[in-house]
Amino acid sequence: MHTGNRQLFLQNLAQTSDEPLLLEVVEAAGCWLTDPEGKRYLDLISGISVSSLGHRRPEIVEAVKAQSDRYFHLMVYGELVQSPQIELAQALQKVLPPELNSFYFVNSGSEAAEGAMKLAKRFTGRTGFVAQTDAYHGSTQGALSLMSNEYYSNAFKPLLPEVLFIRQNDISAISNLPRNLAAVVIELIQAERGCMSATQEFAKAIRDFCTQTGALLVIDEIQTGMGRTGSMFAFEQYGIIPDILLLGKALGGGLPMGAFVANRELMMSLSQQPVLGHITTFGGNALCCAAAEQAVKITASELEQFRVAAKEQLFRRLLTEAGLNHITGKGLLLAAHTPSAEACKKIIRYCLNEGLFTDWFLYNPAALRIAPPLCISEEEIAFACKIIAQGLKII
Ligand code: PMP
Repeated sequence: MHTGNRQLFLQNLAQTSDEPLLLEVVEAAGCWLTDPEGKRYLDLISGISVSSLGHRRPEIVEAVKAQSDRYFHLMVYGELVQSPQIELAQALQKVLPPELNSFYFVNSGSEAAEGAMKLAKRFTGRTGFVAQTDAYHGSTQGALSLMSNEYYSNAFKPLLPEVLFIRQNDISAISNLPRNLAAVVIELIQAERGCMSATQEFAKAIRDFCTQTGALLVIDEIQTGMGRTGSMFAFEQYGIIPDILLLGKALGGGLPMGAFVANRELMMSLSQQPVLGHITTFGGNALCCAAAEQAVKITASELEQFRVAAKEQLFRRLLTEAGLNHITGKGLLLAAHTPSAEACKKIIRYCLNEGLFTDWFLYNPAALRIAPPLCISEEEIAFACKIIAQGLKII
């Protein structure tokens, strides 16, 4: 191990917790990470649902190289005509319903959430929001206002004042919500809660409530999008369409990229009274758009080949055989629930030692995160589950 680098990391880089994983990676390709000693680790979490096509997918590498021969950054978002942005918008349009036809490209998932909240306020002239309990939509102060979890949010209050919370699948609570909301923000599978799925009835009831009251329905597909749950976007499986769609993570094919997507008429309100309703210097960066265009096209054309549903079943079968029979989520966004946070932490450490990289969830430290690149093979799934099974024996 390069202990020197670890020390420099601890000394020079801002720390986010007192127990970082501290794995040093010198190279990543496909589903595998390599450390300085040449030891390889199977990536079971895709950098938190980012590397859905595996690391350094050749077409994405080529697209970034080709764009770097033309230009990197030219101007703040929204002024100059840049073909990588247009081509990405067109690629996304092909996989989205026709009404979601205006794309605001930003730098991260949090910024997509911020942009959507501002758009909802501006368009509706209203100020209130509803989010789900234990939702995670980002760490900036607007997105953080949508977080019910006081452990993570209390230190940063006051946040936005008019946010109410509803429990996922609590249909009876919907009729008690205020009828003058700017937006209701939901994730159809609450990833950081441990991959908890909305029922069809709840999703439809929320959609109906928004349509009836004029609140905008914002669906956060930052983690569920780009094929992770088996369809290009999770909302397709629910038969509903959001007014604003949030994208991020896997959208950029490994480069930083977020987007909020809406109907053109709705989106236009951000350009008037005031003009420049959302400003970003780097949003829609040419290199990121070139990578994202490939990520969208490849995901759309190879999703069937990835056999996400079959891989989900294989994980479920092997993990159940190993003794983890409470598994939640959909497709390759799964949580395997262990007896306790302590046990989960031990399993994660054991896995790392054995060459398997996994993690827990923000609000569910007792659950193992199973979100590998969609191109993971059946042999790799068997390898991962075997190590997890061994890890379970030592807790
Ligand atoms: N929404 C969801 C559902 C997320 O999982 C995340 C990140 N974990 C975000 C928003 C925020 O994205 P970012 O970290 O890129 O700001």
